[in-house]
Formats: sequence, C-alpha cells, structure tokens
Amino acid sequence: MHALLLLIAPMVVTSEPQPTVLRGQFVKLCDAVIPVLDDTGRRVPFYQDSYAVRALAAAYDMTGKREYLDACRRWCARMVEHQARMTPHGAYFMNYGRKPGESKGDWYVGDSSSIALAVLATAVRCPDARENARLLDSVTTYARLVMDKCVMPCGGITDGLWSRFDGEWWCSTGIFGSLAFVLYDQTGDPAYLKVGLRAVDWLNRQRFENAQHIDYKEAAPSVVMYVFEAYSAGMPHLRRDAIRWEASQGELRRAMDWMASHQPGRNPKSTWKYESQWGSKLGGLPFHLYVWSRLLPEGAAIVSAADRDLMDMGRALEGDRSKLFQLWAFALMSYAERLSPGSLYRTDPSKPPAKAQPSREIAWKAGVATAKITPARPMGMAGYAARKKPSEGVVQDLFAKALVLEDTSGNRAAIVTLDLIGVLPTLREGVEKQAAEKYKLAPQGLLLAASHTHCGPEYRERKGSEDEARNYHAFLEQTLVRILGEAVKGLTPAEVSYGHARAGFAMNRRRNYQLPKDDLNAAKAPNPDGPVDHDVPVLAVADAEGRTRALLFGYACHNTTLGFYDFCGDYAGYAQQYLQEDVPGVTAMFIAGCGADQNPYPRRTLELAQQHGRSLATAVEAALFANPRPLRGPLRCAMETIRLVKSPERPALEYPVQVIRFGPDVTLLALASEVVVDYSLRLKRQLAGPPAMVWVAGYCNGYFGYIPSDRVLKEGGYEADGWKTPIEEPIVAKALELERRLAVPR
Ligand SMILES: [Zn+2]
Repeated sequence: MHALLLLIAPMVVTSEPQPTVLRGQFVKLCDAVIPVLDDTGRRVPFYQDSYAVRALAAAYDMTGKREYLDACRRWCARMVEHQARMTPHGAYFMNYGRKPGESKGDWYVGDSSSIALAVLATAVRCPDARENARLLDSVTTYARLVMDKCVMPCGGITDGLWSRFDGEWWCSTGIFGSLAFVLYDQTGDPAYLKVGLRAVDWLNRQRFENAQHIDYKEAAPSVVMYVFEAYSAGMPHLRRDAIRWEASQGELRRAMDWMASHQPGRNPKSTWKYESQWGSKLGGLPFHLYVWSRLLPEGAAIVSAADRDLMDMGRALEGDRSKLFQLWAFALMSYAERLSPGSLYRTDPSKPPAKAQPSREIAWKAGVATAKITPARPMGMAGYAARKKPSEGVVQDLFAKALVLEDTSGNRAAIVTLDLIGVLPTLREGVEKQAAEKYKLAPQGLLLAASHTHCGPEYRERKGSEDEARNYHAFLEQTLVRILGEAVKGLTPAEVSYGHARAGFAMNRRRNYQLPKDDLNAAKAPNPDGPVDHDVPVLAVADAEGRTRALLFGYACHNTTLGFYDFCGDYAGYAQQYLQEDVPGVTAMFIAGCGADQNPYPRRTLELAQQHGRSLATAVEAALFANPRPLRGPLRCAMETIRLVKSPERPALEYPVQVIRFGPDVTLLALASEVVVDYSLRLKRQLAGPPAMVWVAGYCNGYFGYIPSDRVLKEGGYEADGWKTPIEEPIVAKALELERRLAVPR
C-alpha cells in the first residue's frame, strides 16, 4: 500500500479527485464485475469482457487480491477451450459469428485481438508455469494466424473473415497493432515490433477520422478507442524514430481535440450517450489520456481533463449498471491506468525475453557505409568544356556510398553510388579487383553508379593536370574499397522493399524533330513533347525492427541544374541530403537513369537545384507511401561486356551491361555511360509487367560519352555523338539475354 502511493504520487496533480476515491470506486466496480464475467450464459460478445479482464489483471497488481487473477484465469480457460475447436486454427471465438466447430460465418481480427490482449495480460501474471505457457501459446498461435493471413505489406491489417469487406481496416490494425507491441515486449521477437510499427504507419497515413466502412460521425468513440490502442502500446518504440513520432503525435493531438469537445464529463453539451453501442467506448478514452499524459509535455493538464471525464462515468456507474456493461468494462481500463500506470501493457519483467525466433520474413542482410569524397583542394571540374579554371569552393560535399545486400544463400550485390560525373573504366577495374580479393565480392554483383553531377572534380588525366587527376583517382579507389569493406562488415538482418513514384522536372532537352522545318520552334530546345521517363524507382532497406537504413533511388535526368565553380551534388545531392534529414539514420543513394537527353527545368540557380532535389526527395517519400512491395530473394547478378565500334578510326569500346535480379519481382538493368531515354522506355516495355518491375540505370560501370538509340542516331544532334553504326540492338539484346539467364520462377 505504501509503495503504491509512492508510485502514483507524481500523478496526483489536481486537488480532486483523490486517488483514494478513485481507488474505492475501482475496487467496487472490480468486485462487482467478477460474477458477470463468470456467467457463461450471457450473449455478450467476449471482446467486451476482455476489457474488464485486462483491468482485473491490473487490479491484481495493485491489490494482490487473488480473486481478481483467478477470475481472469477462469475466463481465459474458456477462451482457450473455444479456440481449440475454431477454424481457422488459432482463431478466438467471439461469442457471436463463427462458432467453434463451424467453418462458415464471419470472424473478426479486431474483436479477437481484444480477447488476445486479455489472455496475454492474464498469462504474464499467471504463477503456474504450465498455465502461463498454455496461455502464451494461445496468443502466439493467434498472432501467427493474423500475421500469416491478415497483415498486409502496407502495414494495414484486414479484419479476418468478413463478408462485407476484405481490405485493411482501422479497428483490426489498431488492436492487433497494440497486441504486436506487447508481444514484442514479452518475447523480444522483432517480427512483432515490425508489425506494430507498420500498423502505426498505416494508421498515420489513413488518419483516424477517415475510418472506412463505418460512419465516423456515428462511431467516433469506438474509432478513437481502438485505433489508439496501437499508439498507446507502441509509444516507447515510436519515439525512436522522429518522423513516425511526429506523425503519431499529430494523430494524438487531433484525437485529444476531439475528446475535449465530445467527452461528456468535459463538455456537458456532448450528445454521446454512455448506454449506446458506440458511446459506451467513451469509457476507455481516459485510459488513453493517462497513457499520453506521460509522453506529452502538457501531462498534468491531460490527467486533470481525463479525471473529470472519469468522475462523470463513475457517477453513471453508481446507479443501475444493467444497461451499461460496455461502459463499465471500458471504464475499468481507465481506472486501472490512472491508479496503476503502465500495468495494462505490462509484460513479465521477471522473465528474460524469449530468444527472438529466426523470422521467416527476414530474407536479407544489408550493410551501408559512406565516405566524403570532396577534393581537399581546388581541382579542375568535370562536365562543361567551357570551364577553364579550377574549382573555387564547396557548396555541398560530395559523397561515395556503399550498400551491400546478401540473400539467405549468401549471394551478394554491392552497389556504390558516387556524386561524380562518371565511373572511369580504370576506377571500376581497380575497385573490382580489390573488392573480389579482400571481401569476396563477385565482379558481376558490383555496381558502380555516378550521379553525373557537373559540379564535381575531373579525374580523367588531361594535359597539364595529370598529377591532380591521378592523385584523386587513387584516393577514390582506396576510399571505395574501404567503404565496401565497412558495408560488408556491417551486414545485419534487413528487409528490402521496392516502390516507385514520379517526378516531373526532367524534360527532353533535344529539339522537336517532328516539327516541320519552317515551324517557329523547329530549331528550339527543350521539347516538352519529347520522350521522358519520370519514374522514380526506390529500393528501401530496413532493419529487423522496421527502421529505414538505406534508400536507393533513381531518376532519368542530367544532373545539371548548375554549372558554377563550386563543388556540389546538384539536384541529386540535395535529394540525398533532404532524405537523410527527413529520415534520421538513413543513407540515401542516387542512381542516375537513362537521362542523357533529359535536363532539369528550369535550371542554372542553386535555388532551382535545391527545388528539384526537394521534388525528387518528395517523390521518393511518395514511393514509400505507395504500398512498397517487400522483396524476397534470390539475388542473382550477371555482367558482360559487348564490343561497340564508334567509327572505324577509333578503338572499339568494351561496353558493360549488368543485370541484378531481386527475386522474381524486381530487375535492375545497369547500362554504362550516357544512355538516352529510349533504352529505359524500351526495356521497361519489353520486360515489365505486373507485378514484375524493371529499373533501368545509366552512368554505371563505365563512362565514355553518349549512347544514342537508333531514333536519336537517325535524327542526329548532340547525343548522336559521332556514332557511325547503330548500337541499340546489341545493347538491348545483351540486356535481355542476361535478364532471361537470371530469371527466377515466381
Ligand atoms: Zn552528360
């Protein structure tokens, strides 16, 4: 008793009500609810009971009275008994809908998850080891059923077997989300944490006022009560990720605004009635407020508001309770949280966390590393022949970043992105050799990609600046090998997903060859009607707990907003910077697409480079929003070169073509040098088909001028670049051949 008062002392912030008063009411309501729960003849849905059971478990913590725990155990024994005869395996009987032994009828994840929470609350307090194990097993079997059948890749959770609607649903997502957090706390299995975090992400995206398949106006207290169970249980985990925490706080504040004007104890004009089906859930809302009061700065004010509402319910429950069972059960939760903070989501602290099961969902390992590659002193700059003097300063640092992925069989791909003009074949050779020797990274799995910024150093040897180029080349080679080693060393379990969105600032920079010769614009560029590839492919890598670690993204557009004398990553540099600011802890990596004939518009100022960077970063965030698809292995890589002859007078080019397949779903085709957009449009047309996705990159693994398509070659112009014979067919043929060779059956 003494210890209890000490524990709750910091919560006593208002003059009334005294905790002793609330405690008296709580104990009275608990004592009275036991015979109700024991009455097996009632037709009341079990989810309603479950809230009273959870409160009784907390009352047992507070008082040590065995009657409370024993009532929970009797109720749970019945739940487990029914569960044993339910189809599907692991489902709980809800006391309506599908019955034990039947294989027809509706069965809901939302209501069943409420039951599971009560069974879990009882399990963690059960003194008998066998009973404890039986109850825990009941909950994990149930959780497995939901995770196998109802948790969608987007994070939303369907409501099970519901004849009216089979999509993700707010109620099941909120309640199962909270169960997932408590199960994670109990077992330490990161698979549960991931489900919980994704459920919150899904709920954040939906916003609770938009609850589907129910009229929010009609059912608001239920929506708020159930949705926010995921938040209240998951708060300690949400706080580790700033973006998620911010988004969640926004939802909490909207919910608190709603409560302030609708809780009858705070606003006497509220039209919500405690005895109605939806209004009875008002009983649980102070519960959430008490949880949030410990997490938000205005904690004391929140407690006092919740107290006022709880006192109002207390008065209602003093009288005839016969029509108020739901309010009663939910209000018990609120009393319990007020008097024994945290006990409703309590897991067993005396029990060491169960060893995390090797989760079937963790199909990858990933490691990332970054190094700054801004030249230490002024250097000649790459990209514009008109520049005749060395760099003058640094507006934004340049980076090299490495991402190493490994599938369950140990196959690896290592992707290195560079804020540089291109990948010189000599650089590729040196890095490839050392990466193979030192880290066993196979050449066909090594992809070096350049952002094609025109505000980076020139590291080709040119007359008069051979030493400068040679030194930087050596520094670069050494740095890339080092970060590859760091990424390999840092390989840890990861999840990989793929999504894409669009960004619109790239425009075809050639003139419109379709126009009649005498047209006003016949000789003018850019061409707003010319072919573009506005796709923004995104590969997202998360750790086992669902936190994003790396974002690899692409865009087909010259990285040439700028042409000044300062080092800068241009729009691609800003997109990476903004993503890293927006998603703390993430490494953002840019791979240029087939943008040889594309420019960012408008251009030429730093502000525009930043603006395009923001647009691209936003598109990446949109891709993460648009139901990214989880990828499984196997990882398969191939790379071959083909011989291309530009003109008889010049030596043949060894042109590398690389294909990386992420299981059956996503294929990354990496082409070398400056490839025009026709290649990516054609390869996607030929290879992509729902749900297979194709990502075509340029500026990879080699840098030797423009790679025109047959169309561009025929039209002529800058990007035709002196090629005497068509090269589109041999390049496309090699890409298709490698893609087929690596094909993975679906
Ligand atoms: Zn270029």
